[in-house]
Amino acid sequence: MTGKKKNRCSFCGRNEDEVAMLLTGLNAFICDECARQAERIVRESMGSKANPKKTDFASLDMTDIPKPHDIKAFLDQYVIGQDSAKRYLSVAVYNHYKRIAQKADNDGVEIEKSNIIMVGATGTGKTLLARSIAKLLKVPFTIVDATVFTEAGYVGEDVESILSRLLQVADFDVEAAERGIVFIDEIDKIARKQDNPSITRDVSGEGVQQGLLKLLEGSIVNVPPKGGRKHPDQDYIHVDTRNILFICGGAFDGIERKIAQRLNTHVVGYDSVQNQQKIDTKDLMKYIVPQDLKSFGLIPEIIGRLPVLTYLTPLDRDALRKILTEPKNSLVRQQIKLFAMDGITLSFDDEALDFIVDKAVEYKLGARGLRSIMETIMIEAQFSAPSRDDKTLTITRSYAEQQIAKSERMNK
Ligand code: ADP
Repeated sequence: MTGKKKNRCSFCGRNEDEVAMLLTGLNAFICDECARQAERIVRESMGSKANPKKTDFASLDMTDIPKPHDIKAFLDQYVIGQDSAKRYLSVAVYNHYKRIAQKADNDGVEIEKSNIIMVGATGTGKTLLARSIAKLLKVPFTIVDATVFTEAGYVGEDVESILSRLLQVADFDVEAAERGIVFIDEIDKIARKQDNPSITRDVSGEGVQQGLLKLLEGSIVNVPPKGGRKHPDQDYIHVDTRNILFICGGAFDGIERKIAQRLNTHVVGYDSVQNQQKIDTKDLMKYIVPQDLKSFGLIPEIIGRLPVLTYLTPLDRDALRKILTEPKNSLVRQQIKLFAMDGITLSFDDEALDFIVDKAVEYKLGARGLRSIMETIMIEAQFSAPSRDDKTLTITRSYAEQQIAKSERMNK
């Protein structure tokens, strides 16, 4: 066809036959290649601000914020027991919402944040609590492990990388990240080894605590955008940590001894007899106070920035039994689902479940042991059941015993 003027890309000048696609604007055109290049330039020059996807963290309205009761009820679906920790967490998260929703009034009252520290033996549900709460949150949330941090200059990650991760979760929306929640696991691993400040540099302990303090206190932190280590020519993203809620968790192995020591020295006084009777020596954790964390090796400044202290109790038989079946994604439910996908109806006799709990108690692995015991018992069935004709399978105690005995023989 002659005569008809071909449309051209207003940027590169090529006509519609020369490009794969030509987008039409008001008084201009742009081809697919130029559009792509433009996108790249915008992204590079604007960095984080270029992300068009505004997260819905921005619009928090008090009316759609779950109340502490609702938060706890939600946690109950996934975590067995640990009432005290659940209550503290629910209130802390609720207050966190309130704080970030607060208007700048002239009344001079500013709600300060209350970071939390949860103390409890390994496998009692600290991480599970954090993960479960994350499902419900409307703010960016990330879990980090304190053991990977070292002082600046040593091999390992700088504490600032915590914020890099939060930024990633928030799609690099700095404002959203500044209202996020960070769960720092294994905080006890950065305790200094003795109760007095060390003379030599303590790579894993005090220096990291000092670094962390900067974040907990609330300050503007320079964050390398890609995470990892700082680099002199990198552009930093400035993140204000004042409104970020920090939840810390740790096993604090052996802290009961410190608690016992403190309780003993207290009861030397004139009312010692009365006090001694009241102390429940089986569960000393419930008497934990911030001073015990100091005896364990956290520096007072860190403790001061973690004003809410709560504990998790060791899981008894009863709790372990419930963990097998009750949580929304309990181990039993997961197995049933796996088999159902092969059209097989799986069930467990009560006695078989009791046996799994017996073994978990015997192995002293708490709830963590349940999973590996379950896997050991089920491996044979998982291997052969999909090829069988029989579409029902019941796990009895004697079957479970046989499977465990078999694996124990093999591991000898
Ligand atoms: P921690 O962080 O305290 O060391 P985790 O939360 O990682 O322990 O627990 C390990 C696993 O044990 C979890 O994945 C979960 O399956 C199970 N578990 C531990 N505590 C509980 C609990 N209170 N309720 C339900 N499951 C639990």
